[in-house]
Amino acid sequence: MAEAPVLEDTERTTGRIALRKNIAAAMALSGAVRSTLGPKGLDKLLLDDEGRTLVTNDGVTVLETARVEHPVARMLIDASSAQDRAARDGTTSAVVIAAELLRNAWHLVLQGVHPSTIVRGYRMAESEAISHLEGLAFQGSEEDLTTAVRSSLAGKASRAVQDRLAVLAMEAAQCVERTVNGVLEVDPTRVSTVMAVGRPATDSEIVEGLVLQKRRAHPDMVKLVENGTIALLDGGLERRKMRGDVTFQATSPDVLDALRRREIERLLEDVDAVAAAQVNVLAVSGAIDDEAHRRLLELGVQAFRRVPVDDLDLLALATGATVLPHVDALHKDACGGVLESRSHMLGDLHHWTVRGEGTAATLIARGSGDEIVEETSRCFDDALGVAAHLRKDRRLLVGGGASHVHLARHLRRFAEATPGREQMAIEAFADALEVIPRALAENAGLDPIDALLDVTAAQADASSGAERIGLHLEQHVPTDLGAAGVLEPLSVIRPTVSGATEAACAVLRIDDVLWARLEAQIPDDIQAQLDAMGEQDA
Ligand code: ADP
Ligand code: MG
Repeated sequence: MAEAPVLEDTERTTGRIALRKNIAAAMALSGAVRSTLGPKGLDKLLLDDEGRTLVTNDGVTVLETARVEHPVARMLIDASSAQDRAARDGTTSAVVIAAELLRNAWHLVLQGVHPSTIVRGYRMAESEAISHLEGLAFQGSEEDLTTAVRSSLAGKASRAVQDRLAVLAMEAAQCVERTVNGVLEVDPTRVSTVMAVGRPATDSEIVEGLVLQKRRAHPDMVKLVENGTIALLDGGLERRKMRGDVTFQATSPDVLDALRRREIERLLEDVDAVAAAQVNVLAVSGAIDDEAHRRLLELGVQAFRRVPVDDLDLLALATGATVLPHVDALHKDACGGVLESRSHMLGDLHHWTVRGEGTAATLIARGSGDEIVEETSRCFDDALGVAAHLRKDRRLLVGGGASHVHLARHLRRFAEATPGREQMAIEAFADALEVIPRALAENAGLDPIDALLDVTAAQADASSGAERIGLHLEQHVPTDLGAAGVLEPLSVIRPTVSGATEAACAVLRIDDVLWARLEAQIPDDIQAQLDAMGEQDA
């Protein structure tokens, strides 16, 4: 029998060559985001097919936007996305550490250490690292938590905006906090955003409840309802159209009139059904016909039409109401409670603010122009993600590489006590963690090796609080970074270490790469046309 046919159209690399190529792909990917790390990190300008631009400092945004085809690079991007989902921060760190673990593994392979031995050593180092980090972590005060949220915005907006957004994110997280079956839950999807161009970004604010850019269906309807009942319909209050493909011949004009009258009567019955359920605030996703308007106005119902379905879902969370498919399904239990439903102006736009029995909060994102408002809102989302985690787990670590240096020192001692070749892998793991302080120093224009030596020496000399000492990026000396306000949640740092180990070990276990040859074949005549076009352009 010949070679398995499945391999006919594939390119195959095996063993060491495969590993070397895979590691090169990981290094290239990490190189693309490493320069964005930290408060002094540079931004990347991203361009899409349609020429739209986005300037960002966020590792995961860069990686998810780039069209990366190498499967190993994709594995690292997935690790970064997983970090984003788990902690909303630390996405660059996860990729940079993973690539460094791989680079150090390659040096060991060259010295004759088998990849499986490295994987075992890395796993041992990982579990030791996690328990060491948990030991270093401390319970943050309210003020510490806000500081940690601000640290997570490092490099992302001006200092004044960072300060403001950190406070707002904590405030919003607190607004949507609730206890479900005895467990504290903080759901960031209950926080929505209203963009308001005009005032400076630092004037952004949090409003308790839900704010939507909506005007009530008729200007004469009540502006304020307090302690009312709300119903939500995914549909409209319109005359019911005949179902199916009906044709009929009217024998006199009266027949048509009678039909129309009946339609209106049915519509008004629908409106009365709303009132009968004691509803005084109504939001529908469809239209409200004129006749229904008038009746709603007479009945004193505050109504909003053409409310997007997504907003109906938010209203449901904020008020405890259920979104109903039709008036026929309306009953008391499906309605929600509103403490306040207010129709008002914000700037020169109509807005509707609802405070209900459920929990919700809204960011009024401000800025002098559209782009600044969008940037404010993006930064707030990141900050909110971190704040939501911190309300549930207040354990903090000192950032800026301080914890990483301390951890590396600890792991080297742990390696000494470990027999066998795994010891070398544990040392390689410790070295890899130091990529964080090195990259932070490098991005601040400092010499990474000197910086790391200074910090390591300062930690070794410290009689207490060694784990708080890191390089101050402004003063360029080893300092207590905790006191300087560089704090990070344990829930951000811990998954960067475990996610990076996971990704690196997955890559180390590959020893065979099969590439399908999938290059598209372009017919000769079409290729000729393309070439001609290219010449014209030139
Ligand atoms: P990531 O995507 O990994 O979160 P960032 O660009 O947000 O990457 O950088 C995070 C790193 O920057 C963390 O190690 C954090 O401790 C560090 N950092 C944040 N603020 C400071 C600061 N003022 N001084 C030194 N390091 C800082
Ligand atoms: Mg960050």
